[in-house]
Amino acid sequence: LEAKEEFSHKTLAMDVMRPRRSDPSLTVLAQDSMAVEDVEAIINETTYSGYPVVVSRESQRLVGFVLRRDLIISIENARKKQDGIVSSSVIYFTDHSPPLPPSSPSMLKLRSILDLSPFTVTDQTPMEIVVDIFRKLGLRQCLVTHNGKLLGIITKKDVLKHIAQMANQDPDSILFN
Ligand code: ADP
Repeated sequence: LEAKEEFSHKTLAMDVMRPRRSDPSLTVLAQDSMAVEDVEAIINETTYSGYPVVVSRESQRLVGFVLRRDLIISIENARKKQDGIVSSSVIYFTDHSPPLPPSSPSMLKLRSILDLSPFTVTDQTPMEIVVDIFRKLGLRQCLVTHNGKLLGIITKKDVLKHIAQMANQDPDSILFN
């Protein structure tokens, strides 16, 4: 395959992903240690379309990706219809959840809304390849890892902006139509 000339600049995934070096870190959810109110706070304080789910904040090991709208609907439904779901209920994205002491609030299992194999690339992947993958697979976002740890995210809009910068053109006219 021939490399397309317009993407021959050697920009890497790490140059396009968010967060930028000076930005606050990626907003992630931990798979089994956050309460309903913690996740609601994140939903209210950010506008991202989705959140990577990690084993723990310390490990930054990727577990999956959850869409904001699915989170909102699931939590709303659970609060209305599921017995014992309160602000302090712990959310589990894991397969198995631990037995809880009888006095603790019910847990909220959200594994069913988790995308368990979100697309990922390493931080060293040339943007040329990332653009190609976005096009061919019709991705909305792609996660970026380094040594197996989650580092950042690239959305379709990030890719469009990158292409526009490279080509100095209108972002809406290029990639997907
Ligand atoms: P879009 O890129 O279509 O506006 P988002 O609203 O999800 O989609 O993302 C806005 C910006 O924030 C993008 O530049 C994206 O890379 C970044 N971003 C997306 N999700 C997260 C997240 N969970 N934490 C930090 N930054 C994110």
